[in-house]
Amino acid sequence: MSNDGKHDPSCIFCRIVAGEAPAHRVWEDEATLVFLDIFPVSPGHTLIITKGHHENLFEAPAGSLAAVGAVSKRIAEALREELAPAGMMVFQLNGADAGQTVFHYHMHLLPRWPGQELVLHTRVPGDPVALADLAAKLVARLERSAS
Ligand code: AMP
Ligand code: ZN
Repeated sequence: MSNDGKHDPSCIFCRIVAGEAPAHRVWEDEATLVFLDIFPVSPGHTLIITKGHHENLFEAPAGSLAAVGAVSKRIAEALREELAPAGMMVFQLNGADAGQTVFHYHMHLLPRWPGQELVLHTRVPGDPVALADLAAKLVARLERSAS
């Protein structure tokens, strides 16, 4: 596991990377992990994280950020093929005053549909069955596109 040696046992995303906490995983490579947001603002709300624990854009090494950027295109394409949203929002928050709530670098991919309110967070958990189903479909789609 390549995580730049940075691991914070009190960080929920580090615990997901280590397999100590559950997640609806979609993709994994040496530098990144991708899973569905458990409080999805819209169907397909996905997080792309660096495997290493870096608090934000300012702390994360450029190479890790580049890896997140590269994988974001693949994941966005898979989400578009699977869900056919009208648009795709990409956002990334740095610092509590910018709305960041989990202090481990991550990029959000948020499929969007007409009329959807422009919000970044919700407190409504996603349906675990629907999340598991979507994650499995995305995994299969990404495997097909890789081969
Ligand atoms: P941010 O506000 O940019 O730090 O985003 C953190 C995101 O992580 C929010 O959208 C949360 O819903 C999401 N989140 C928090 N805990 C988990 C978890 N255990 N699994 C998946 N997503 C999570
Ligand atoms: Zn972490």
